[in-house]
Amino acid sequence: MKIAVQLDFDGTITEEDVSFLLLDTYVGSNWRDMLTEYTEGKIPVGTFNKRVFGMMKADRLTMLDLVFNSDRVKVRPGFRELLHYCCRKDFKVIIVSNGLDFYIEAILEDMGVSGIDVYAAQCQFDSDGMTVRYVGPDGHELEAGFKEAYTGLLEKKGYSIVYVGNGISDIFSSRRAIKVFATGDLLERCREEKLECTPFNDFFDVASGLETLSTD
Ligand SMILES: [Mg+2]
Repeated sequence: MKIAVQLDFDGTITEEDVSFLLLDTYVGSNWRDMLTEYTEGKIPVGTFNKRVFGMMKADRLTMLDLVFNSDRVKVRPGFRELLHYCCRKDFKVIIVSNGLDFYIEAILEDMGVSGIDVYAAQCQFDSDGMTVRYVGPDGHELEAGFKEAYTGLLEKKGYSIVYVGNGISDIFSSRRAIKVFATGDLLERCREEKLECTPFNDFFDVASGLETLSTD
């Protein structure tokens, strides 16, 4: 069995959502009204992110400076160990995130992590601020279903999916996974749906949970 471990980034690999920190700092609290619209299912995640990130007027370096100097940005323990574990087991690792590509790449690079497929919102900075685009596996822009689109691609390539996430946008890929590791809102949602999942606090929990996975 070919296994792919698909991970969310914000609130999963990091303990807190990095984009929330950026929005709190550079947009102010009114973006949270739109967050409520999104969490209540009134607007898709892509629409929400395009709107609120479009309100940020800081440039890339200013934002990265905040990310690297904030005590709100912490990577969950055991991430590197999980990557080594997956490498040993020949599991493919892929990160698919509704967050922004530039800080995800910068945080991974800072940890010395490379060679992983990362798909996230593509940011373009201009004098007016920033625009974001979600580009699916077929090269077309997506408003919704970004994470799921990459889950579908992995399935098409013959992989069975292990999913690791924390948010409500992770439920769609989780439903298609052979094993789900969940924390936060995703854990709650899985329990509501009676979707089998393993709770986790850090990536040591995920690695030991993977030990019980039958890969025949
Ligand atoms: Mg998340």
